[in-house]
Amino acid sequence: MSKNRDLFNKHLLHPWGNLPELGEDESISVIVKGEGAYIYDEEGNKLLDGPAGMWCMQTGYGRKEIADAIAKQVMELGYATSFTVTNPVEAELAQRIASQTPGDLNRIFFTTGGSTAVDSALRLCQLANNIKGQPQRKHILTREKAYHGSTFLGASVTGKERDKSAMDVYQDYVHFLSVPCQYHHPDFDSEADFCDFLIQELEDKIAELGPENVMCMIAEPVLGSGGVVVPPADYNRRCCETVQKHGIYYIADEVVTAFGRLGHWFASEKVFNTSPDIITFAKGITSGYVPLGGYAVSDKFMEAISGDNAKGRIYSNGYTWSGAPVPCAAALASWDIIENEKILDNVHEVGPYFQEQLRTLKDIPLVGDVRGIGMMAAVEMTLQGHTGSREDLLAKDYAIGAMVDDYCHQFGLLVRPFINVCIMSPPLILTKAQVDDLVLAMRKALELTLNDLR
Ligand code: PLP
Repeated sequence: MSKNRDLFNKHLLHPWGNLPELGEDESISVIVKGEGAYIYDEEGNKLLDGPAGMWCMQTGYGRKEIADAIAKQVMELGYATSFTVTNPVEAELAQRIASQTPGDLNRIFFTTGGSTAVDSALRLCQLANNIKGQPQRKHILTREKAYHGSTFLGASVTGKERDKSAMDVYQDYVHFLSVPCQYHHPDFDSEADFCDFLIQELEDKIAELGPENVMCMIAEPVLGSGGVVVPPADYNRRCCETVQKHGIYYIADEVVTAFGRLGHWFASEKVFNTSPDIITFAKGITSGYVPLGGYAVSDKFMEAISGDNAKGRIYSNGYTWSGAPVPCAAALASWDIIENEKILDNVHEVGPYFQEQLRTLKDIPLVGDVRGIGMMAAVEMTLQGHTGSREDLLAKDYAIGAMVDDYCHQFGLLVRPFINVCIMSPPLILTKAQVDDLVLAMRKALELTLNDLR
């Protein structure tokens, strides 16, 4: 075994680590280098990075501009605390973000990543209702299969069964609506009918709880790690308008969809015609080079709880690294690259080709659904038509994504398997030739997996 694998087995606990195999995983990939859209493992294999790290390497690996910006900032001002002072880098980044958010979402709060952004946004809603004399507004609406992070609150509003079943969560005030995925709701004749059902379900849930008791709805515009679910047309806008009409806040969790993944700095307004009260972001803001997240909140929201309206309260929430200059400098450098290299245009050009080419995989009997938008997509495998005991099929179903992923490795591609789904969110610099490589590797991997299952 390699030294790195040995050390991993002795000392590391990874996110979503497989506990039955703790300390005994001899196949973990050791990644040692990245360049453009590729990563290299310690055996020298070159892999196209299908998930772009974890939905985050927007501008690709090995960006000297980001390295230089970080180094310069370290030497100029390595740290400053936003608890007591401000710095020019966080100020400029906040101004740039505000210039791209919808409506009057002009107030920016920085965190250390996506979970802390979600946590902070939810706590801001609690604070606002307490200040406004509506402390009974506690209920939170979210969806099955949503992923919103690993803090206590973030995990509580996450709808992935396996994630939330293992540890305790804040249950009494959290309500899960249906995942807006038509592939999993085949009973509806049309997308419009399905959307009407989802909105009715939302209205019914609000009525059941009492609108005056509901704090917010939190929703990813496109569910990411829940399987890249692109909701029916108009669903996001209708959800937002439905809750806001009852004085309920709408939080768009754009941790994945912001910073170019759907071809815009933020997707809420430009892609989904939605005007949230709060947008959370993280990941792609620094192209994944250093941790940074945050939220943008509307001026209207803040006016209601500041000045004389604050009733003397403070905003008692923050992190040592909130607005720290080094991550903010990395974010500005990544932003400049996206602008200078017209990377949003690349997403508009290569994104549709990526989606179209991936859909050619539907002719493989193992493929149940291919879905996605912009630079995010999922291939969902199905064992329909296969015979065997329920247990056997279930076991295979759980393994199927990992089987496809293993074969993809052999053909130079990394995908992110989750049960029976392979998720892709490549770097935004992807070329059409790289799309062709990716789809060919997927095709070969799917065909070999199908063969193994026969
Ligand atoms: N929200 C969404 C939509 C995410 O996809 C994620 C992470 O995948 C998070 C929040 C949590 O972000 P982080 O892992 O940076 O804490």
